Amino acid sequence: MALAVIRDAPSRPLSDYDVTDFAHLPSGYRGLIVEPGYIPRDLSDAVINTSTPLLRYRPDSEKSRIVLSMPVMSAAMQAVSGYRMGIELSRQGGIATIPQSQEIDDQVEQVRNTKRYKGAFVEPEVVAPYTPIERIIERMKHTGYSKFFVTKDGEQHGTLLGVITDIDFDEKRHAGLLVQDRMRHFEQLEVAHEEDVGYDLESANERLMESRHSAMPIIYSDGRLRDVVFRKDVREHRIYENELIDNKKRLMVAAAVNTRDYKDRVPALLKAGADVFVIDTSQGHTDFVYDTTHFIRQAFGNVPIIGGNVVTKRGFRFLVEKCDVDAVKIGMGIGSICITPDQIGVAKGQDKAVEDVTAERDAFFADTGIYYPLIADGGIHSVRDMNIALAFGADVAMLGYFLAGVDETPTEVNYKKSPPSKPYWGEGSARARMFREQRGYNPAFDEGVERWAPYVGPLEPYLTTKMKQLKDGMRKAGCRSIDELHRLATITTISEQEAKPIGE
Ligand code: IMP
Repeated sequence: MALAVIRDAPSRPLSDYDVTDFAHLPSGYRGLIVEPGYIPRDLSDAVINTSTPLLRYRPDSEKSRIVLSMPVMSAAMQAVSGYRMGIELSRQGGIATIPQSQEIDDQVEQVRNTKRYKGAFVEPEVVAPYTPIERIIERMKHTGYSKFFVTKDGEQHGTLLGVITDIDFDEKRHAGLLVQDRMRHFEQLEVAHEEDVGYDLESANERLMESRHSAMPIIYSDGRLRDVVFRKDVREHRIYENELIDNKKRLMVAAAVNTRDYKDRVPALLKAGADVFVIDTSQGHTDFVYDTTHFIRQAFGNVPIIGGNVVTKRGFRFLVEKCDVDAVKIGMGIGSICITPDQIGVAKGQDKAVEDVTAERDAFFADTGIYYPLIADGGIHSVRDMNIALAFGADVAMLGYFLAGVDETPTEVNYKKSPPSKPYWGEGSARARMFREQRGYNPAFDEGVERWAPYVGPLEPYLTTKMKQLKDGMRKAGCRSIDELHRLATITTISEQEAKPIGE
């Protein structure tokens, strides 16, 4: 599937700005550092494992239902997590959280676009032969896709009739025509049959490589479209060994829900294939969270729920014991775009919050044998912050600013800025508030601001470098897993002067 990637972006070495640009941000972990540990001979980067559970489990008898290959979850924010983040982050082994600050239909579309990926077998966008080309032009602009498959009546798995791509028509000249006037017909396509290919990527790949086509639809014996293999995806699939996939081999994605319209939002997201629900509140120790989680449990059984945000021991107990969540998210007042503490005077330092909630999680585990993964949300702007959060006891880092400068966010790069940057705004900022106001919820003041995040190019190389840094940090702390980081690492304070970022 063609993604709208900015290809002509001038490349700039990460090191030019990466090391210092987070220095001015409020970090939850400033002034702290992980102490070096003992490095045995066999502790190379190759044996260091960054995999981590996302949902509760009993370590003595089962595995977590979702295990990430890297401790990374994208923040449920308009400026960070759309379907492109959904696809790329899950391919790398993390997971994105599609924000709830949009209409239900729009959030559903973001989830659906991520779930279209089944390994390299993709359910493409389909259209009917009688769809106006004008509508195709709109859809191409909206989705960034350049190819739409044509099926009878535009049904996802309808009889395949052909394809229409952005070179099959001219925007001005053909806008008044219909798809059937300009599409390429079935006979002109390279098509594979489901009984020949199954889900075997190798044989699909061989067929594709022999053809001169950039995509190959796979059809059932009665001519209905199953899915499509794109040349680009086959190539990438080989690289993404860590991709996070569900039992139908589709990429996994989380969806945020609020405590107001959950009765409509949750069923729609579930139908679209959302794998995890993230209760998105800045203060999650409330009856509203209780109502939301109870609705989900009663209506949909044991679908994964991440509760939050809490920053206290009692908040943890409430989410686990009263709300029956599968994991707990920690953080209040610490996001890089957050002004909550100054606006209302209620929040908590993130280092203390993660430490306290971890202590309660560990006590709960000792009593019950059930392990609750903790997600540290906010204030993680460097691998240094991430390493400290994990060493405190977090299992996953939720990242906003850290990811806001990659290509895969829904925002545009501003090349006039030096360095080139992408806009990043809080969900409680005036910019994001419009949606809430339309829904009759009218906050009297802002709890978030806008800022710029330096542009860092595509997610994959950026995150690969960050994970190498994390592994090296773990190695120097003498730890081969996140579990060892929890148990063996020591966090210490350093003086203010030294506490300034010194590079990673
Ligand atoms: P960052 O990674 O430090 O940029 O923080 C991201 C986190 O900040 C998100 O995951 C939210 O928990 C939180 N957040 C997002 N928008 C706002 C806001 O407008 N005010 C306060 N906190 C916010």
